[in-house]
Order: sequence, then C-alpha cells, then structure tokens
Amino acid sequence: DHSDMHAEVVVLGSGPGGYTAAFRAADLGKQVILIERYERIGGVCLNVGCIPSKALLHTAQIINEASHMADNGVSFNKPDIDLDKLTGWKNNVINKLTGGLKALAKQRKVTVVQGEAQFSSANSLTVTTPEGDKTVSFDNCIIAAGSRVTKIPVFPNDDPRMMDSTDALNLEDIPKRLLVIGGGIIGLEMATVYHALGSKISVVELQDSLIPGADKDIVKPLQQRIEKQYESIYLKTKVSAIEPLKSGLKVTFDGDNAPEPQTYDKILVAVGRTPNGKLINADAAGVNVNDYGFIEVDGQMRTNQSHIFAIGDIVGQPMLAHKATHEGKVAAEVIAGQKSVFEPMTIPSVAYTDPEVAWMGLNEAEAKAQGIDYVKGAFPWAASGRSLSLDRDEGLTKALFEKSTGRIIGATIVGPNAGELIAEAVLALEMGADAEDIGLSIHPHPTLSETLGFAAEMAEGSITDLL
Ligand code: FAD
Repeated sequence: DHSDMHAEVVVLGSGPGGYTAAFRAADLGKQVILIERYERIGGVCLNVGCIPSKALLHTAQIINEASHMADNGVSFNKPDIDLDKLTGWKNNVINKLTGGLKALAKQRKVTVVQGEAQFSSANSLTVTTPEGDKTVSFDNCIIAAGSRVTKIPVFPNDDPRMMDSTDALNLEDIPKRLLVIGGGIIGLEMATVYHALGSKISVVELQDSLIPGADKDIVKPLQQRIEKQYESIYLKTKVSAIEPLKSGLKVTFDGDNAPEPQTYDKILVAVGRTPNGKLINADAAGVNVNDYGFIEVDGQMRTNQSHIFAIGDIVGQPMLAHKATHEGKVAAEVIAGQKSVFEPMTIPSVAYTDPEVAWMGLNEAEAKAQGIDYVKGAFPWAASGRSLSLDRDEGLTKALFEKSTGRIIGATIVGPNAGELIAEAVLALEMGADAEDIGLSIHPHPTLSETLGFAAEMAEGSITDLL
C-alpha cells in the first residue's frame, strides 16, 4: 500500500458530527485520523455558526433588556458599541472552544490532518495539505463534510455590501439600513443582532410565514413583536434584482405585497445551505450522492458502500448540530461493532430570536395530516408570574397529546428561553410520558418551566372531560 498514512477510521470534516464521531471511535479503541481543511477544528457550528451567533445574540438581549428597563424606572445610557472589542470577545469564545477540542483530540490520540480531502478510491483519500499531497487510507471512513451557504447566482455576490451569515458574524460595521433575504432561523437570528446594534431591518421571505415549517401559532408572537421593531417584513415576496449603486444596493421586489424598489446599505442573504456531497469526489469511492448533494444513509449511518458512513448536514435535514453529534456517535459505535441505530423520536429545533421559538415532535398540521386524534393544552404566558416579572407576556406553551393514550406527541414554545424549555418536552416524548406524568411532575415556582406543566394539566382536563 502506497499510502502516506493509514487509520482504522478516517473522519472527513471536523464539525460537531466529525469531532464527535472521531472522539467516540477513539474512546472505543479505534485508531483515528480526523481531516479538516481549516486550521481550526470545530466546523461551521463552532467557527461561523451556532456559537458566534449565540454570543452576539446574548449581547443583543442585554441591549434590548437594558433599553426596555427605562419604562420600569431604570434608565441606562444609549449603548456605546465598540465593534472591535465585541468581535474580539466573540472570537475568544470560539478560540476557547476550538482550543479545547484540539486538546481533547490530543488526549485521545486522534491525529488531526489539515488539508482538503477528496476520495481517490474506496479505501483512500488524497489530502492537499500545506506540505503537499498525502494519501490517507482507511478501513472505515465517516464523511462529515457538512454544508455551505447557498448563493443566488444572479445577485452581485462579489459586492462587499452583500453578506452571507459568515460575513454578518464578522460585524464589519453596523449598516444603517439592512435587508435580510430569507425569514428562516439564521436570517432572523442575525436580524435580531443587527437590530439591537442599531440597524434598521427589513426582512423579505418567499413563503407566507416567517420560519417556514414551524407552527404558525408560535411564530405569530415573534412576528408581532418584530413587526413593531423592524422597518418592514415582506412575506410572499421575492427579490427579483439587486443593482449595486454608489449610494447603496437597489433592490427590486416581486409579488402581491411587493414594495417599490428600495435602496439598502447592506444585504444579508440567508436562503439556506447546500450540502458538500459533490465536492469530495465521492464517485471515486463509489458513494452515491443525490442531485442536491446529499448522501443517503441507512439507520446505522452507512452509505451504499458498507464500510463508508456519512453524518450531519451532508445526510439531510434538519441541518442542526445536535443531529450531527448524535449521528456521529452512532456511526462510530457501529464501526466499533455495537448495535447502535439513529432512531430519535424527534429532533428539536430552536430559533434563538427574541422571543425564542422552539418546537419538537408533531405540530397540529402534521398530527392532522397523519390522522392522529389529539388533545391540545395551550398555556399563555400572560398568566405566568415569572414571565410577567421578566416584563414579557407574549409567550405561549402548547403541547399536543394523543387522545387514546394521553401521551405527548409534540410541543411548541415561544417566549424567552423557549430553547431551554423544549428539552423537557423532548425527554417526555422519548420516555413516553403522558399528560398526567407531566402535570404531576412538580415544576419549581416561579419558573417558565411551569408553563409545560400547566399546558399538560389543561390537556389532561380535557382528556378527562371526554371520558
Ligand atoms: P460542519 O459543521 O459543516 O463541518 C464540516 C467540516 O468539514 C467543516 O469544518 C469543513 O471545513 C470540513 N470540510 C468539508 N469538506 C472538506 C474537505 N473536502 N476536506 C477537508 N475538510 C472538509 N445548528 C444548531 O443546532 N444550533 C444553532 O444554534 C445553529 N446556529 C447556526 C448559525 C449559523 C449562522 C449557521 C450557518 C449554522 C447554524 N447551525 C446551528 C447549523 C450547524 O452549524 C450545522 O448543523 C452543523 O455545523 C453541522 O455539522 P457537521 O458536522 O455536519 O458539518
């Protein structure tokens, strides 16, 4: 064998899926090489995704709350924003985490190879490293090459005033007028940040609702709040052209609610992510990649080549870090001979907007489509002491229970900290808890977590009424 390096398990890509798989495989006694094109490991999530966005959203939350306190008798000065310092702090958070990962890799004797990898056969990759090409061969490979920002080719993408999520996280400046194209999670999170920092925000979304795919009931409180704060929200509207002018980016809209052309200082394009399946020469290994660039896998995360596995964004929706990590564990365990399988009852989703929007399991439309007879408990936060003491009342906790068994089948939560609160509902679903189990569990008072208990009690009441 002419390879420069060999490992029992080679992991391609060091995002949350890849590093989790590498660490798990090493813990199970496998000899592991982790390949990453960038100097820093951690992938999109740590470097240009989940973590930097949450650091900036924390900043936004403080600014929003501080400005709001004036109504309640405590006034602060207008925030004085030092963008360099703020970016420095955010980068520090990233550095701590990626540095920590490096140490963990070393501890486990996982060899990290920096370079861009392409399959050269069913058992090897060619890696273009700073020191030249290397051949890395493997018994098993785990593809964790993730996804990239989707670009719209007709936009003037080379104009420095056009941003993707990575550019937006760099906080080069605070545009006076910012247009966010795409009303999904990533677009709305960045809108939250730039709004708090002082930009006038407009959001344009093709679908008839923000966060398409989420239950409309829980998106509504978010939409009502940001409609008041932002300059405009255009639903069912398309951007048909962007013309770069000296004075700004002139945008033409299309659709029934389309406004007249507008000029913005900057534009953030957040219209989705494309899997990297077509960029790794998968053909050479005989691994099937579909037209979109996704790699199909079975419940054990195996591709059509039984010794090659794939995990994370590259295998499909939802493109979320916690899906990638769980899939990574399964792939590593299966390679180590365990009978693991990726079979979650649900994968929770969270938009870390203000308020946050979180959901898991089935929503009402899905339950109806599946012909499931359900009972709903919906608790408005206007009746929660804790919510009012946060000076917020727009939240809502809604839980759905199957009528015949009383078991929880879905939950949707909107309000501050909804992302933390949804975890209890996920556990309840995985454990097969029914409305009584949740209602009888004593939730600490006064907390926002009580709202799930109350929602369950309300549903239980109507289940009992029906008997
Ligand atoms: P990735 O994280 O994409 O990692 C893949 C790695 O492979 C990259 O480091 C890449 O450089 C490397 N790679 C690719 N091809 C090659 C090659 N040929 N050779 C060598 N290396 C290669 N998810 C959440 O769950 N919660 C959030 O709050 C959240 N916020 C987000 C915010 C933003 C702005 C963005 C963009 C995403 C966010 N996500 C969030 C999504 C999350 O980042 C992804 O789901 C997650 O990173 C996917 O992990 P992964 O392991 O599949 O791949």
